[in-house]
Amino acid sequence: MHGRPPEPMFPTPELFVDGAFVPSADGARRSVVCPTTGRTLAEVAEGGAADADRAVRAARTAFDHGPWPRATPRERAALLERVADLLERDRERFAALETLDTGKTLGESRDDVTQVADVFRYFAALIRVDGGHVNRAEGAVLSLTLARPAGVVALITPWNYPLLQASWKVAPALAAGCTFVLKPSELTPLTTLALAETLAEAGLPSGVANVVTGAGTSVGAALVEDPRVEMVSFTGGLATGRRVAQAAAQRAAKVALELGGKNPNIVLADADLDAAADHALEAVFFHAGQVCSAGSRLLVADEVHDELVERIAGRVAAIRLGAGWDPATEMGPLISAEHRAKVEGYVRLAQEEGAELRLGGRRPADPGLGDGWYLEPTLLLGLPPDGRVAREEVFGPVLTVERVRDLDDALARADATDTGLAAGVWTRELATALAAAERLRFGTVWWNDFHPYFPEAPWGGFKTSGVGRELGRAGLREFQEEQHLYLNGRPGRSDAFGRGGARRG
Ligand code: NDP
Repeated sequence: MHGRPPEPMFPTPELFVDGAFVPSADGARRSVVCPTTGRTLAEVAEGGAADADRAVRAARTAFDHGPWPRATPRERAALLERVADLLERDRERFAALETLDTGKTLGESRDDVTQVADVFRYFAALIRVDGGHVNRAEGAVLSLTLARPAGVVALITPWNYPLLQASWKVAPALAAGCTFVLKPSELTPLTTLALAETLAEAGLPSGVANVVTGAGTSVGAALVEDPRVEMVSFTGGLATGRRVAQAAAQRAAKVALELGGKNPNIVLADADLDAAADHALEAVFFHAGQVCSAGSRLLVADEVHDELVERIAGRVAAIRLGAGWDPATEMGPLISAEHRAKVEGYVRLAQEEGAELRLGGRRPADPGLGDGWYLEPTLLLGLPPDGRVAREEVFGPVLTVERVRDLDDALARADATDTGLAAGVWTRELATALAAAERLRFGTVWWNDFHPYFPEAPWGGFKTSGVGRELGRAGLREFQEEQHLYLNGRPGRSDAFGRGGARRG
């Protein structure tokens, strides 16, 4: 392994409740482990149901009596802008913490921080112009739709993009005037705690933002079941998402879910093969495939299949594994030993289902990488479309390739999964791409690219990939309740009742 791990300033490893860092009620702690070295990075307070209760109480009081929900859009926007400034000032600190905690490369982590700052700026701009609209203006009667804050919200985030996923919820929640309790993944809480420090430094009033670290089964479940929490925004796996939705449904609370994906990347015979091969790698090996929108399922037209596979194979074999802080590293480790075992299980299953293991699938032999949870980038050919691996999310550095006859064949295979997060299509013909997009039941469709997203554009999934949208105008709406305000400037009698049988005119 090359280079020394970065040594950023670590955040206070306690819960952030009502504007202060505090230990958990029972004093429990949890080791946060670096997936690259296996070493403990920090001992973080391990919250439980009592801590969730305390944080919800603070958020409830801040919502019901505090200044934030009553602040003007301009005031909220100014605070979000300050947060963005501070994130940019502290970009290296956040990037180093994220790389230590998740294993991704420093370059990826720096990009994350830049994009996170942009998300805060976008929602700052949006809240100033998106105050509601006029439905009818008839004489002295005005019918208005106003956006009110959704209230106290619970935000639950996964381990793969801890800071980024948190920002997609925190920025619109704050813009809308909500107060919140955020529970990061127990594996990767560091940048979320650092974000709490940033929000406090930016001047956010106490109780508006609360962070409770701890397990999903205790803190997460307590938040979701709490009747004082009016909305839950969750990003994570399908099984957990279903549990969250069930618990929220018990008390008819609003819920937004961003779940997993099995994302097809379709390469047609007329595609620019050079670009398609290049992006096929980025689609799946970015952050070692631990991306909800990873293009892990390559569907390639028969005519160009062999040539594309050869181009890809040469590059896969050359991918350089290593620590995220080594500038030469292209791909880091997986998040944990358990997760690596799960991905290895999928590689075995694919072979049992009939796929050919062309490259990778093993732990690297390099002893310098022995302390991390690395897995070689993996290429599986001839994956049968009806097996589990073709339908289930692997969430690792595993690219499967299927040979397809044509666009119809590719679309039929893509549609045969329950998920619908993101898809890519490579062709020189816009008309073909548009026809494909119409039939692809996926929340995002990329033509001749893979992965770009923008704060201005909605992000989310069809089918079991989610409920609701993050980012864009829809991402703000998630944290608002629409209120219809009817104003009558010229009140008159209606004479509808109590006229003793006299006919109305
Ligand atoms: P999990 O579903 O395991 O966990 C997500 C969060 O939910 C964690 O904070 C977890 O806590 C918490 N949690 C666990 N159990 C409960 C519960 N009963 N009630 C409330 N909260 C609970 O997902 P992972 O962290 O493993 O993340 C990977 C998944 O996230 C993948 O499937 C990926 O596709 C998806 N994802 C989707 C994205 C999208 O935009 N659609 C983006 C990024 C990831 P803890 O882990 O601390 O126990």
